[in-house]
Amino acid sequence: MQIGFIGLGQMGSAIAGNLVKAGHEVTVWNRSSDKAKSLVAAGARQAGTPAGAAAGSVVFTMLANDEAVEQVVFGEDGVLASSARPIHVSMSTISVALAERLTAAHAAAGVGFLSAPVFGRPDAAAAAKLFLVAAGDEKALAICEPLFAAVGQRTFKVGAEPKMANAIKLCGNFMIMAAIESLAEAMTLAAKNGVEKSVLLDVLTNTLFGAPVYRTYGDIILHERFEPAGFAAPLGLKDMNLADAAAVASRVPMPFLAVLRSQLLTTIARHGEKVDWSALAKVVAENSGL
Ligand code: NAP
Repeated sequence: MQIGFIGLGQMGSAIAGNLVKAGHEVTVWNRSSDKAKSLVAAGARQAGTPAGAAAGSVVFTMLANDEAVEQVVFGEDGVLASSARPIHVSMSTISVALAERLTAAHAAAGVGFLSAPVFGRPDAAAAAKLFLVAAGDEKALAICEPLFAAVGQRTFKVGAEPKMANAIKLCGNFMIMAAIESLAEAMTLAAKNGVEKSVLLDVLTNTLFGAPVYRTYGDIILHERFEPAGFAAPLGLKDMNLADAAAVASRVPMPFLAVLRSQLLTTIARHGEKVDWSALAKVVAENSGL
């Protein structure tokens, strides 16, 4: 299939690479054009504008935040300026409100639009092991099915309105952040009582807490692998803010979300913009005097 891929950051470059590997004709665009080099070497074409990458049947966007998606979609040479009218699959973690705006704008332009945010870090993206959460028109979902299969291990179809997928993604990231905070507090409490963190993790992950989130982040915290970041703390803060905006709009009090947001803000203030969001564990340890 002829497809476009916009946004070649940590996640996008890995996902686009798997689409090339699966034999699709992929045209890529990234704001910093040098990031396209390795994909071009692998067989992709490089477009000069987002509209140029939106010249096939489907175009993916995998960008940092709402502002980036707005610029790439609504800009002068943006996705909606393309005469090819591809189905647009938005994979970025963006606000529920922007998903609603994108749905309306694409419908007005007569163009298909799906939300398909993902769970999984860059290593999972590289291994084509992402979980995709997809929502939107059924026919468009069916057309994209083989593309989703090339980049992930499973696609959950969660509803007809694209924003539903974005709401699920924000719920998930809120819960990952909560798991990181609880792991960090428990490991710090154990450490102050003479218990090796690895022993605590061994007990917990082999009894009631065997979920991937505890295993993955427990291991990162145990070995303090906070840099280079797989998921940078500022992106995590962005997601806590997006969850908060959705909670306010939906009139859902989420007091624990406020705690997590504040902890993450402290993490960035103390440890900089480049650390992984799990570096929040350092703040928990520091606050205990460790
Ligand atoms: P990243 O490595 O920081 O890449 C961000 C991408 O957005 C880059 O291609 C960047 O272009 C582009 N971008 C930023 N601002 C832009 C703008 N104003 N106009 C055009 N392009 C712009 O981030 P990532 O980790 O790949 O994450 C991408 C998305 O996936 C985010 O929404 C994130 O929340 C989500 N996500 C990440 C993970 C993870 O573990 N990393 C997991 C699941 C979901 P430049 O190269 O020019 O800067």
